[in-house]
Amino acid sequence: MIPSPFDYVAPSTLDEAIAVLGEHDGEAKILSGGQSLIPMLKLRLAAPTVLVDINRIPGLNYVEERDGGLHIGALAREHELEVSAVVREKYPILYDTARVIADPLVRNTATVCGNVAHGDPGNDHPATMIALGASFVVRGPNGTRSIPARDFFQGLFTTALASDEIVTEIAIPAPPPRSGGAYLKLERKVGDFATAAVAVQLTLNAQNVCTRAGVALTNVGSTPIEAVDAGAFLLNKPLDDGTIAQAAQLAAAAADRFRLDRVRFVETDLHSPGLRGRAFDVVYSSGVLHHTPDPRASFARLARLAKPGGMIIVGLYNAFARIPLRIRRAVAKLTGFRFTLFDPVLRDRRNEPERREAWLRDQYQHPEEHRHTVAEVRGWFEGNDVEYVRAFPSAMLASEPDELFTPAGDDWRAEEWLAQVGWMRTLGHEGGLFVMIGRRRGAPEVELAAS
Ligand SMILES: Cc1cc2nc3c(=O)[nH]c(=O)nc-3n(C[C@H](O)[C@H](O)[C@H](O)COP(=O)(O)OP(=O)(O)OC[C@H]3O[C@@H](n4cnc5c(N)ncnc54)[C@H](O)[C@@H]3O)c2cc1C
Repeated sequence: MIPSPFDYVAPSTLDEAIAVLGEHDGEAKILSGGQSLIPMLKLRLAAPTVLVDINRIPGLNYVEERDGGLHIGALAREHELEVSAVVREKYPILYDTARVIADPLVRNTATVCGNVAHGDPGNDHPATMIALGASFVVRGPNGTRSIPARDFFQGLFTTALASDEIVTEIAIPAPPPRSGGAYLKLERKVGDFATAAVAVQLTLNAQNVCTRAGVALTNVGSTPIEAVDAGAFLLNKPLDDGTIAQAAQLAAAAADRFRLDRVRFVETDLHSPGLRGRAFDVVYSSGVLHHTPDPRASFARLARLAKPGGMIIVGLYNAFARIPLRIRRAVAKLTGFRFTLFDPVLRDRRNEPERREAWLRDQYQHPEEHRHTVAEVRGWFEGNDVEYVRAFPSAMLASEPDELFTPAGDDWRAEEWLAQVGWMRTLGHEGGLFVMIGRRRGAPEVELAAS
């Protein structure tokens, strides 16, 4: 397929590049190694109006140790991690990771920063960066900020980067003495994307007791997953076979959060899915249905895509949890947006005008908004042959709830209503998003071997 038409600019400074990104309001894309972006353009999975090629900006190609850590510049290629002496000696997990990415041709071109900025759950560096406790240095129109790797990945191909920000550097704290790490990747054949992979970085004291542990997983969910429980379990324990086996069980439980052993992601248009019905193990839609004119009808279109026995996960605005924001919105509108009282997100973004503006547009000025209760969405489930499993405040999806797909216990309606009233306080920060999980009725079909 031929890409959609686009303009091409090759600025010679970071400021110029950021200005071009800002002018195009989310329609421009940075081009670094092009190893992910160009295939996406060819498949028309991305159709930016402008490509901002950062390869001619000087001073961004380095892998060097200074100020108590390793710094990887925006234009450092994967291959440079393979040949760097300091990486081999002090950060071997980075060498381990880089050498299992694709083939030498790709590794000579692809950048390490592009690998993380892309937000692909199948990419290898994100889990490694989480295990190492790395941060991403990001520059935008209002200056530079540093985002911890564990907070960077927000969803499928979605990161904490604003559309006019560039990852200029990855900063990794130097591991203390007696540290080590490894990246283990399960792949169908050499050079493939991971079926699944694990990154582990540990520090031991002189008695072989673990004093720091970072464990993270690749391609077992829509983002890299930090196996928080496994890391915490290893702390303050001598590393023996029993401890390692138990930590591995905890990491496997984190991987199993989505109950998937093979992950293929397909994105689609809600109004015209164009996909075969009854084909998907999991159908996921978060923060979308409540902005469509008829959320119930949109839900029905999505529900048809799930296999019998398949899971349906929807994130929606909750009618109760949304009350604080509606009050703030009424005050804001009455005062011509001079007062947006007690909005924690606006407060956090006080030095980031663009991101404040984005939140204001999404939460205060969106032309289409619906709000729902658990009971109402249970009605949608019933009408579409979907069995109710449970409802969550959305914040819980980010931790490691083992019970994500476990049917709700007592199922008391009064308790359900009370919980939603409680979400008014806990979900204020997130704009009132809650998650409902259901299972398409019918026995799962027996999978036939691929023909
Ligand atoms: C055949 C093949 C096999 C592959 N196998 C693997 C594999 O096994 N494991 C693996 O991890 N990856 C694999 N990849 C993917 C590839 O290695 C990475 O995604 C690549 O490293 C991305 O970096 P890039 O410099 O090429 O980014 P680009 O393709 O130029 O950009 C990717 C995305 O990131 C954005 N971006 C790039 N740089 C920045 C920046 N500095 N700041 C902000 N945004 C930025 C772009 O706008 C774009 O959206 C494979 C790719 C190919 C073609």
